[in-house]
Amino acid sequence: MFTPEIINKFSSINTPFYYYDLAVLEENLSVLQKISRQFGYHIHYALKANANPPILELISKYGFGADCVSGNEIKRALEFNFTADKIVFAGVGKTDREISFAIKNNIQCINCESIVELDVINELARKEERRARVALRINPDLEANTHHYITTGKKDNKFGINLKELDDLGNRLSDYSNIQLIGLHTHIGSQIRDLEVFKHLALRLNEILDGFKRRGIIFSDLNLGGGLGIDYENPEKNAIPEYQNYFKLFHDTLKPFPNQQIHFELGRAIVASCGSLISRVLFVKKGFETEFAIIDAGMTELIRPALYQAYHKIINLTSHGPSCKYDVVGPVCESSDFLGKNVMLPETHRHDLLAILSTGAYAEVMASRYNLRDLAPAVYSRELK
Ligand SMILES: *Cc1c(COP(=O)(O)O)cnc(C)c1O
Repeated sequence: MFTPEIINKFSSINTPFYYYDLAVLEENLSVLQKISRQFGYHIHYALKANANPPILELISKYGFGADCVSGNEIKRALEFNFTADKIVFAGVGKTDREISFAIKNNIQCINCESIVELDVINELARKEERRARVALRINPDLEANTHHYITTGKKDNKFGINLKELDDLGNRLSDYSNIQLIGLHTHIGSQIRDLEVFKHLALRLNEILDGFKRRGIIFSDLNLGGGLGIDYENPEKNAIPEYQNYFKLFHDTLKPFPNQQIHFELGRAIVASCGSLISRVLFVKKGFETEFAIIDAGMTELIRPALYQAYHKIINLTSHGPSCKYDVVGPVCESSDFLGKNVMLPETHRHDLLAILSTGAYAEVMASRYNLRDLAPAVYSRELK
């Protein structure tokens, strides 16, 4: 990814910037396409991980669908050639405008997160004189073994319809004359590396599907959400996520209805590895016990360490030699503004270039202008050729 030629080109670009290696993304997409086809699974890319135009162009070119969590994401997906019949829309707090926009554009499915929302979708679809295709997002009450801020499928999380409510709903489904109920949806969290979690999900879904079947309700679609994690510790070694094991686990465990279409919504797994945040060292400063490498990127460009205590591998692109330990911190006026603690780097100097790896997902999309900092630009590998 970082050849001497590329590093040389970096030296003439103002830092910080996000660097996207589109060859890495293509490699990921072609592996995902091949494996998902083998299983006959439909993949929707979760736009919220990264919605930059060149990235969306590539992903839609591979024929994948889109998973959106706002009206603007639906709009963006349509602009970048994701067809409406492959767009799904989730979110606990959809506005009336967003719901109507989704209905007007006849997207594949609205993933509905509560009974009150179901009433609203029905009403808005009636106004549009349409039947909206809807899947019920269920909260399966499962532990995802990931950071608690990115767990979404426990019963005390705000997401989805809880199992008790789902049971009551089963009897009233025919009340919704402007809704075509096509399936079930679930998404239990993000950065899930313990695949056993997905096995528990599949088993729970089998029970729920059985419950509906006993009432004579058969769904055409089942959407298992996203959440497949990546290896932030060894990104160079394990650049491709565990797609094969992930899909095989569902294939072996899940008991879908005949002809039921299976969908996934992957974000991080697809785009995280193609991005790096490139930053210059401003100062190396002795602290009381630690040495600080103070760099020109911080929580404004990458909030994940501050928000989720997330780990990103950091490498020094310009200095080489024996390692020392640094706390790599940003310039923002917050003590939570760090990119990495106890990071082993070759002896690091002012003006060295550092790369913070695996920042293709949930980095640039979460950037802020706190401290009135400028938004860092994106640079694509093809521009450096
Ligand atoms: C965020 C999100 C995803 C994608 O999650 P990843 O961990 O990036 O794969 C999928 N579905 C829904 C509903 C989401 O909110």
